[in-house]
Amino acid sequence: MPEVKILITEDESIVARDLASRLQKMGYVITEVVDSGKSAIESVLRHQPDLILMDIMLQGEIDGIETAAKIQTIAKIPIVYLTAYADRETLKRAKATHPFGYLLKPFKEKELQVTLEIALSRHQAEVEFQKAVEVEYQTQYQAQIQEKQAEITRKSLYLSMLSHDFRTPLSIVKLAAEVLQHQSQNLTEEKKQKRFRSIQTAVTNMDQLLSDVLAMEQTDAASLKFSPARLDLVAFSRDVVETVQSLTNQNTLIFTSSLPENARPCLDEQLLWHLLNNLLSNAIKYSPQGGNIWLTLSGNDREICIQVEDRGIGIPLEYHSNLFKPFQRADNVGRIPGTGLGLAISKQCVDLHQGQIAVESEEGKGTKFTVTLPIPTPIA
Ligand code: ATP
Ligand code: MG
Repeated sequence: MPEVKILITEDESIVARDLASRLQKMGYVITEVVDSGKSAIESVLRHQPDLILMDIMLQGEIDGIETAAKIQTIAKIPIVYLTAYADRETLKRAKATHPFGYLLKPFKEKELQVTLEIALSRHQAEVEFQKAVEVEYQTQYQAQIQEKQAEITRKSLYLSMLSHDFRTPLSIVKLAAEVLQHQSQNLTEEKKQKRFRSIQTAVTNMDQLLSDVLAMEQTDAASLKFSPARLDLVAFSRDVVETVQSLTNQNTLIFTSSLPENARPCLDEQLLWHLLNNLLSNAIKYSPQGGNIWLTLSGNDREICIQVEDRGIGIPLEYHSNLFKPFQRADNVGRIPGTGLGLAISKQCVDLHQGQIAVESEEGKGTKFTVTLPIPTPIA
């Protein structure tokens, strides 16, 4: 049996000594025998006993019950009261301190032993129960914290994604405004209208992005939404190519499509806009020596295939599998700036369409991204 330390608080010295010797015989360790409430409190702080035997009628400023109440505020130690007699009022006060037992003096050896054992095992059970409650609470609390952290990560990733794709329309507006301001005389009316249209489209795109950010705040929807509708994919893609082309003289964008001109597959225009912008701007960014970039559309009545191909720096093989995870960049990018989010956004757009995105690339030779999007209803 592990050592059990008992503090005796009893002001009748004969009773105290007798008690101490009986307890020692039973195998208990007596930390101290004290005769007042004040010394009992000091002794608790000094020895941290496992149990206290407390005489109710103590001499001095505070009696046993008050002492017990004070001790309970500093340590959780089971207390067993000793008393020669007890009126109702005293018992009521004693009860309020939740003692672990009462011993009426004079008590028999067996009574003493049983009361102490019950008190100790009840205390042990309470400690274990308390521990179990704390563990349960901790686990629940931890799960909540983890959930909250995951939500924050999800939201901040989503926010990074939305802000990421602000750059393209902003550049478009800036460039179109510059061209209209400085080269207005040299532009045909048709070209001017085209620039105005590109500003309007860019503003619409930014407006959509802002609405998404606000929706996230209001509805907790920390992911891109999927709202498919019939889309003139060929015209839409041609527009995106023209707009992206207007941002660079370094590369030539070549758009080809084998889809019927009247194809109207059900796709999400906003998501496709993210997808094409990211794939095309990567193709430009990672072809610093210039060169052609191809956007090719093909498909049948079950799926649409979109390919973006360049002859740029390529992607080392070991990076292929991680490219679609956020913040992953290959080590051959050198000083080309980037955050590693564009392809993660593209992947989400493809996933929302339940499609596939694949990469074929060789370092130094070029890269081809192939996106396949299933279409539930015929394309025309
Ligand atoms: P940003 O967040 O600005 O788009 P990024 O372009 O680095 O930064 P992603 O578009 O996600 O991020 O691309 C991830 C990585 O994939 C790039 O850093 C680059 O290493 C590689 N990569 C993507 N597209 C190409 C490409 N066309 N040619 C070569 N490497 C590419
Ligand atoms: Mg990118």
